[in-house]
Amino acid sequence: MLKLLRHLIQEINDAGDLDDALQITVRSVRDALETQACSIFLVDKETSYLVFSATDGLNAEAVGKIKLPCGVGLAGLVAKREEPVNIEDASSHPKFFYIPELQESDYRAYLAVPILYHRDLLGVLVVQQEEIRRYDEAEEAFLMTFAVQLGKFIARVEPKQTDQTKEKEFFSLKGLSSLPGIGIGKGFVVYARADLNAVPDIEVTDVDAEVDRFKNALAACREEMKILGKRLSASLPEEEQALFDAYLKILDSASLNEDIIARIRKGSWAQGALRKVIKKHIRQFEMMEDEYFRERAVDLRDLGQRILAHLQVEDQIEREYPSRCILVGDEISATDIANVPEGQLIGVVSVHGSTNSHVAILANALNIPAVMGVSNLSIDQLQGKKLIVDGYFGQVHASPSPKLLGAFYKLMREDQELEKDLEYLRDLPAETQDGHCVALYVNTGLMADVGRSLTVGAEGVGLYRTEVPFMMRDRFPSAEEQRIIYRQLLSAFSPRPVTIRILDIGGDKPLSYFPIEESNPFLGWRGIRMMLDQPEIFLGQLRAILRASEGFNNLNIMLPMITNVSEVTEALKLIKNSYQEVLEEGVDIIMPKVGVMIEVPSAVYQAEVLAKHVDFLSVGSNDLTQYLLAVDRNNEQVANLYDSLHPAVIKAFYQVVQAAHKMEKPVSICGELASDPAGVILLLAMGFDVLSMNASYLLRMKWVVRRFTLSYAKKLLDEVLQMENVWQVRCCLESALEELGLGGLIRAGKN
Ligand code: PEP
Ligand code: MG
Repeated sequence: MLKLLRHLIQEINDAGDLDDALQITVRSVRDALETQACSIFLVDKETSYLVFSATDGLNAEAVGKIKLPCGVGLAGLVAKREEPVNIEDASSHPKFFYIPELQESDYRAYLAVPILYHRDLLGVLVVQQEEIRRYDEAEEAFLMTFAVQLGKFIARVEPKQTDQTKEKEFFSLKGLSSLPGIGIGKGFVVYARADLNAVPDIEVTDVDAEVDRFKNALAACREEMKILGKRLSASLPEEEQALFDAYLKILDSASLNEDIIARIRKGSWAQGALRKVIKKHIRQFEMMEDEYFRERAVDLRDLGQRILAHLQVEDQIEREYPSRCILVGDEISATDIANVPEGQLIGVVSVHGSTNSHVAILANALNIPAVMGVSNLSIDQLQGKKLIVDGYFGQVHASPSPKLLGAFYKLMREDQELEKDLEYLRDLPAETQDGHCVALYVNTGLMADVGRSLTVGAEGVGLYRTEVPFMMRDRFPSAEEQRIIYRQLLSAFSPRPVTIRILDIGGDKPLSYFPIEESNPFLGWRGIRMMLDQPEIFLGQLRAILRASEGFNNLNIMLPMITNVSEVTEALKLIKNSYQEVLEEGVDIIMPKVGVMIEVPSAVYQAEVLAKHVDFLSVGSNDLTQYLLAVDRNNEQVANLYDSLHPAVIKAFYQVVQAAHKMEKPVSICGELASDPAGVILLLAMGFDVLSMNASYLLRMKWVVRRFTLSYAKKLLDEVLQMENVWQVRCCLESALEELGLGGLIRAGKN
């Protein structure tokens, strides 16, 4: 059953469109359960009616014509209750509703399950049989499991259907409210190259050119195979050489090529047509009993990849970034962002990831609105479309009407005006109305950020993410390359303090050239753990940082992901040794201050003892929230549970401040909470010495600080500490912001 289920799910995912997928479903489920009818009702979003949408066994002529209100009939009952109905004899059930057009009078046994996605009812999947009997538990489990997968598929392709049928019409997609701001530009899809599975569906109009492109790639691949075969003919046994003949035969297979060309002629680009056909054939081979044929699936996959590589070489030359580019992808990477020519990136839309993913943070640092976790998106539907990225509400609007565009341009203008209005704050202190000062620093990882940080009057760098320059390369940067980067940074900010964080890779920050395979990377080999295990990388970086500080003496070093005091003492030993060595080499520097990031629960409970060993503490609210709430900061499925204003998280932050101050050490915060106006009120009240944030937020947060009094902030903190739920906390803080005329910071526009 499991194998069958997997196969069926695969078939659905490879289906060309929703109708195709529904047809495959009804046919395959009917066969799999050896039953007599399988049908699907889908919810019409506008009317909330259940529409009879596909069947194998009932009257196919009724498809699209029968519409049931929720609650009517047995399918309606399933929709209303959102749970399965399994009955021996449907006609005897009080909710049975006879619809002659369906021609179901012969059927008695009835099993139906809801199709749900993220609590949203999408439809009902039904099987029926003449015999009076109850479907058994295994059958019910099969249908329910399958309905979950079908739900995912429908949620992903449904907006695309609308798009295909109403070509230029407007549609909106919801993601996670990510980075405040609005971007208006043209969608440009990026995808993992040389990966057949990652190829999106893109429509083309010049099908002849696309067919030629495919034929050229095929010819190039054939040539490549011949050369490879010849090159290895001397060293390979005859048996193995036959493999190349087999490859060539597959490449010449008329059915395969004709199938691909036929799909291109229907409007698919060559890469998409190749993906579908190769995957279809792979599945057929994989299902075969004979091992020889199953092996051919591997050859076919390899060949598919090779043809794809040839197609992509051409494609790479031809694809040009639009001048106002909105990157769209399943999983946008830091390199995707870096590849866009300077000044052309306007927005980011990503299927995976959430507000606290590093890519979102990177986009944020560049002041680019991003909407993450748009999970019901099939990325190709945004290719080449005019898009509005609304980072305030986490929405993407495609092909907007002139009226909507006008409204968003107005909001954008107001945003810019607000920014201009706040420029006067640049040289004023972040001081509350009753005289309490807090230092506002910036987080950075890109040199591109430095100019803006200084323009907004940053008092220092609270977090320099050294992994960013590491991620932008295809190898480890040399010691000298590193030294130059760090020196530029220290020099640009001198005499202001600059906190350079030791490489924090692992988790969701992989280096392509240093792959780490872990089933649970956030709980794995990350940050300081890796650095202590790979002292050559750690020491190389330390020496580069220390040497870079010569003549500036504004360096602080920060250790990420500390969970044990011993990690701090070990790291301190290495830092002190490196410092001595660098001094002995004649470099004239002072010993930098060293601090620890408080990012995991154990560090909260040991904050006092950690503070004793180092010069300062810095709360990494992004990770600390993730680890305290056990919510993956990248996972859009649980993003609604991720909030740094959760009462438990607030208490942890407060505890860290008290511990640091008890040991007479300063404490900063450098996670995203410092850019959240509601968060800033509490951080101020708790007594954080430094708030470190992305440069684009600094003036706004200074505005918050200057509008409040410390005593009012403390009163709000006291109230919030009594609250039970995060929404109560948000409500309380946001109404305080509104009350003081700061509502423009929590939504678009000035008013
Ligand atoms: C944090 O975890 O809050 C932090 C600042 O570090 P990063 O986001 O780089 O993991
Ligand atoms: Mg962190």
